[in-house]
Amino acid sequence: MSKHTRSLTSRNSDPSLSWQSRERLLLAPFAMFSAHSAGREHSETQHNYRGPFQRDRDRILHSSAFRRLSGKMQVFTGDMGDYHRTRLTHTNEVASLARTIGRTLRLNEDLIEAMALLHDIGHPPFGHCGEDALQACVKDFGGFSHNAFAIELATRIEQRYTSYSGLNLTREVLSGQQFRSRKDSGIVQMLEIQVVDSADSIAYDAHDLDDALKLGLLNWQQLAGLGLVQRARQLAPLDQSSSSNRRQMLVHTLIDIQMDNFLQYSMALLSEANQLDSKAVQEVGIQLQMSPEMQSDKEELEAFLFERVYRHPNLVEVRLRAATRVSQLYLLLKSYPQRLPERFQKWASEWGVEHTVAVYLAGMTDRFCDDQYTALIELGRESAQDWS
Ligand code: MG
Repeated sequence: MSKHTRSLTSRNSDPSLSWQSRERLLLAPFAMFSAHSAGREHSETQHNYRGPFQRDRDRILHSSAFRRLSGKMQVFTGDMGDYHRTRLTHTNEVASLARTIGRTLRLNEDLIEAMALLHDIGHPPFGHCGEDALQACVKDFGGFSHNAFAIELATRIEQRYTSYSGLNLTREVLSGQQFRSRKDSGIVQMLEIQVVDSADSIAYDAHDLDDALKLGLLNWQQLAGLGLVQRARQLAPLDQSSSSNRRQMLVHTLIDIQMDNFLQYSMALLSEANQLDSKAVQEVGIQLQMSPEMQSDKEELEAFLFERVYRHPNLVEVRLRAATRVSQLYLLLKSYPQRLPERFQKWASEWGVEHTVAVYLAGMTDRFCDDQYTALIELGRESAQDWS
């Protein structure tokens, strides 16, 4: 056993290994080290055994906004069955893929997981249909975006502490989310943020295809010409299995192919950066990505999903229902803010009625929005209920 191996073995078996030491042992120089965090708005004493990004991850996981993700649709509503993804299961898939990438590239997994768990926390009810409806309601009052709403939830709506509002997350996690709402800024982001973004995209392409096949919105013949499906066919015996096995095999092969390509291509990019730290890697503009050929196949799949799934007549119905419920509730509560739950009435005097009504609607689950629509619009009840 070499001196180096002996020293690693003895340090790894030390039960008191601190998070700082663990990161020094495991992370690449270009990772975002927890010890270099720019801190939080409200300073806190260091935790005995959890690093700052671990604490962020736990705070997000324990937040009420995170739990409500289980009642928010991703693409398909709860009326369509129990198989397909919700916003919560999508989030967990993203976190899982992102952590695999992060561990392989020796980036900060805790930071990656925290950002992955936060990334969709601001989605309103009824997925992108709900978001479009809400945006149409408040377009003259600052607009609405789920990415910006995630920041609002994390900084002023979630209540966990007596002396201030919000989760008091680190600046790195918050800036990662801010980047998502300003992706076109032209600024190259921290590698950990880039990883979450890529994992999100790999996850939703694969699972939207899976869900659409399972729901019968697509058939196999329609997929045959897609470059990514042809690549999967070369690796997995798709044509010899039952329809259900074939679907499962296609989905995990699609994920494997893209993950492998992303990792290989990104490792080659990072091999040039071994002497650089997290900030320097951003300054030289390293952008983790797939090969151009794989990226082009992925874009082909996304265009296909956009045309054949997201615009499917079954989803147009959902879009209409979401638009009706969200906009009618918005109009009613904007005209009668005294019907809002108490804490929202207080916020309305600080933030404006329009924005506060949007916040109230955006925090709802699909079912809660349906219930409030029935109670306030159909039955004419006087007071709206709080969702938290
Ligand atoms: Mg997502």
